[in-house]
This record gives sequence, C-alpha cells and structure tokens, in this order.
Amino acid sequence: MPTETFEFQVEARQLLQLMIHSVYSNKDVFLRELVSNASDALDKLRLEKLRHDSLDADVSDPHIEIDIDKDARTLTVRDNGIGMSYDEVGQLIGTIANSGTAKFLQELREAKDAAGAEGLIGQFGVGFYSGFMVADEVTLVTRRAGESRGTRWSSRGEGTYMLETVDDAPQGTSVTLHLKPADPENQLHDYTSPWKIREIIKRYSDFITWPIRMLPEDSAAAGESDRAPEPETLNSMKALWARPRDQVSEDEYHELYKHIGHDWRDPLETIRLQAEGTFEYQALLFLPAHAPHDLFARDGKRGVQLYVRRVFIMDDCEALLPPYLRFVKGVVDAADLSLNVSREILQQDRHIEMMRRRLTKKVLSTVKDMMTKDRDRYDTFWREFGPVLKEGLITDSENRDAILAVASFASTHHDTEPTTLEQYAERMKDGQEAIYYLTGESRQGIENSPHMEAFRARGIEVLLLTDPVDEVWADAVGEYEGKKLRSVAKGRIDLDTEQEDTSDGDREKQTEEYAGLLGWMKEQLEEDIKEVRLSSRLTVSPACIVSDAHDLTPALENMYRAMGQ
Ligand code: ADP
Ligand code: MG
Repeated sequence: MPTETFEFQVEARQLLQLMIHSVYSNKDVFLRELVSNASDALDKLRLEKLRHDSLDADVSDPHIEIDIDKDARTLTVRDNGIGMSYDEVGQLIGTIANSGTAKFLQELREAKDAAGAEGLIGQFGVGFYSGFMVADEVTLVTRRAGESRGTRWSSRGEGTYMLETVDDAPQGTSVTLHLKPADPENQLHDYTSPWKIREIIKRYSDFITWPIRMLPEDSAAAGESDRAPEPETLNSMKALWARPRDQVSEDEYHELYKHIGHDWRDPLETIRLQAEGTFEYQALLFLPAHAPHDLFARDGKRGVQLYVRRVFIMDDCEALLPPYLRFVKGVVDAADLSLNVSREILQQDRHIEMMRRRLTKKVLSTVKDMMTKDRDRYDTFWREFGPVLKEGLITDSENRDAILAVASFASTHHDTEPTTLEQYAERMKDGQEAIYYLTGESRQGIENSPHMEAFRARGIEVLLLTDPVDEVWADAVGEYEGKKLRSVAKGRIDLDTEQEDTSDGDREKQTEEYAGLLGWMKEQLEEDIKEVRLSSRLTVSPACIVSDAHDLTPALENMYRAMGQ
C-alpha cells in the first residue's frame, strides 16, 4: 500500500494546535502519557493471550523501552504489547471519536486563564497528542499482535498525518519524538538527557507494573563494545496498594490515579482498605475532583480495575461497586480469584458481593468524613457527583440513611450555601411536620413558582431540587428521621395547621361562599382538571395548578419516558 496522507478531523486539529502552543505548563508529562499507553498495551496483550491461547504473539518479555539519540535529537518509547492494526491507528490516533469534543473545545475557548484550560485538558485527556508539546514531528510504528504487517503513522502536528504499511515492524508500538530545541524558560527541558528521563519516570511512572528500561547512551565508553549494553530498569514496579502506607507519598498515589483514571489532575480523596481473613484483598480507591463527560452516558466507563495478586485482570470492573459509585476510580487486588475470572462470574460471586458492600460503606464514610472535616472539599465533591450519588437513594435501601446523611441541597434558607437534611430539621418551625421541597429545572424557576408564595410568606424553608433524579428519590425515600418529605406542588397542604394564628379564617365557610364560582370554574376546565379548590398556598398569584399526591409530576413523567418506561 502506498503512503497515504489524511487530514486530521477538525476537532483533532484544534486539540493539536492547543498542544503545540501548549497551554499546559508542565511539559514533562508527555512521557507519562506515552508510558501509560505502553503499559495499557502490555496489559491488553496479556489479557488477549489469556483469552485466546492460539494468538500468535510474543509474550516472553513484556517491557517498555526508552531510547535516546542525542545526535538525531530523538526520544523513542517502545513497547512489545498489543499494537494496533492499520485501521486502528487511523481510528485511535487520527481522530478523536468522542462526542464530548466539541463541547470541550467550546469550554476551552471560554476558559479565562491558563489554569482553567489546563484543568479542562486534564478532564479530557489528550494523552498521545501531548507528544506534540515537546516534538515537532512524531512517528509511530506499530504491529498488532497476531498480524503480519505493521503500520507507520507520522505527523508534524499541522493539518495532516501520513499512514503507510510496513513489512518489518516488530510486535507492539514505538513512538519516536523528534524533539524541539530545549527551552528551559518555557519548561521545555532537554529530554535527551538520561538524567532527566530517569527523574521523570521515577516521579510519574514508578508504579507501572512492567519494567521500563533505558539503554545506556554510550555503550562504547564502557570499553565493552563487543557485548550488548545492559539496559537499566528505571521503575521499581512496586504496586502502591501493596506497600505499607507510610512508605508511599501522597504524590505517588496521585500519579497512580492519573494513570488509571486517565485524568491529569489530582484526585480529591484517596481511600485505602485492606481486608484480611478468608477472602483477602487490598483496595486503593480515588474520588476524582471532576465529573467525567460520560458520567450519564449509557456506554460511559464505570468501575475500578481488578487485579489478582498484582496481575492486572480487567478495567472498568462494574461488579466491585454499585452503579451510583461509578465515578470512583482505583484498584482492587484480590488474593483468591482465578486469573481468568470473567465478568459474569464476578457478578455472582458471594465474596465479591461482600467486598462490594464493604467498599460502598467505606466510600460513603469517607464522604461523611470529608463533610465534617473539610466542607469546601465536600462541596466540590457534592457539586460534581451528588446527582449520581442520589441514584443510590432509590437503588440501595441498605445504604439509604448513609447517603441521606451525606446529601446536601439548595434551599430557600440561603442563596448559595446548600443545606443538609439534618440542618433543615434543626431549623424547622414549631409545629412544622414535614420537610418541604419543590423540584424544577432551575433554582430561579422554582423560586418564581406560585407554589412557593405561601411558604415564603410564612417563612417556611423549602428545598429547591433541580436534578432529574430528585423527583424519584424524594418519592421513594418518603421521610427523613420520622419527618415526611413533601412536595409543595402535590396534594393538599394545609399550612394553617403549621401556624399558630390562623389569618385565613374558616375554610369550610369560605368554600360554601365560593361554591358557585368553584363549580363554574370546574365546568369550564372539565377537560383538564379534576377539581377546583380554595387554597392557602398563594399570596400574590390568583391560582395555581396542583397535582394529586400520587400523580407523577411533569418532570418525572418526562424522565420515565426518556428511560423508555
Ligand atoms: P487514552 O490512553 O486515554 O485512551 P490516548 O490519546 O493516550 O488516550 O491514546 C488513544 C488510543 O490509542 C489508546 O486508547 C489506544 O487504543 C491507542 N494507543 C496509544 N498508544 C498505544 C500503544 N503504545 N499501543 C497500543 N495502542 C495505543
Ligand atoms: Mg493514554
């Protein structure tokens, strides 16, 4: 096949431009990204070989190799992992097949400062392209395990890339960066310096479970030119979760998070758990600081990595945590599972079930701790993940109270600060029997609702719920510590029983007085309503529509419809 030239997708081109005129100040991380990809490729090869023993692949010495050529000013990261087919290179490297891209780029353009842009890039993860921060040309040669021909991809990062097939490519992938001149003032270091490479690997990739080797730059100088130079292994390969806690620094945990979470930013919280006894396991979990784009997508990634005695088994293992904790990243290493355990088996395993319950409780108690010890951090967490966590109020009755205890809500009590149910309960007026809430699309929309008038006039606090899931959980949960949760838009609410002095007078007498009008209105609106009645809800608006206590609210009807029910 001849060399073919392709244009980058518009989005890909825009991302590349961002990389080249890097908004990201720490350029060293390009190496972390390439090593991370190489490590993933070795994991994938191991798994594929385990599943298909017939795969014609070399799995004898899986490793990552870094090669420096000072004269040519190149740096090569090579792995003998799964590799990519011709089509895969085009798909994975040439395009950005993520629907969130356009939105991401839009946000990026609107980001006010470099820090904001960095954060966004981290959220998106532009792994492979980060090579263009330090290189003016990138060449990738790859051959997929089991296939006979390889592929070469190269680009100067401008508008186009080239693809061609090659006959003699070794299994796996090598990425060669033609380095830009060093420019230390702009954080562009001399990446042909072995010392610098050692430092970066130690800092960002020490825990990678495959050896990362570097060939000595000048083997002739050692005076043993007839012998192949001994490569140096740069990383310790120690699984962080298996090391004593006091021997691992916060930074090391964070780097592991970035590798497995495909995130460039630090996590919000690190959680460790060791279980001994009949079913032994170690867990190292992270709460990210930002919700991913695909949090609510049906095919979004969910779950943590599963290892068995330090050997990577699978990504996105959804059996280890319930769906409402799908944003949690991390590693669970179990001692007593078979190496070729399948997802189906995991779903039914009694030990896994126990592990899931324990991990769930641990995550919730960590959030609770955050709430009491570091309210700002908790607020960040809840803003990002509250809408997901609340799904647990519907699906996980065992932990309902624990979730309610860490939940917080916008409320009429304060313009910006959310309240917990506990705080709401403390502020309830004498004689107030229920916790009131109103759902809607926005805080402002809810506050302008006529349903709110009487509550405002009487100074009764109302929770303002704007997430789609709010309708469902509030109904399903029903009460908090013996206090009913009641929507102010549903059923009869007689606020006067909650008041000491009744200013509205005798309702029955008034209803008699207005019987004619009420009857007439009912006749006129017969098609659309069940009943017309006098109300103490309103102070300014002449009328409002209320649903029966057991009817679906409009937002809920929409949500069920969207879910196809
Ligand atoms: P991410 O790693 O977050 O998926 P990247 O931009 O780093 O994003 O890589 C894009 C994709 O390209 C990877 O998901 C992988 O499928 C493929 N890829 C990159 N590097 C390699 C490699 N060394 N070996 C095999 N596949 C790779
Ligand atoms: Mg990557």
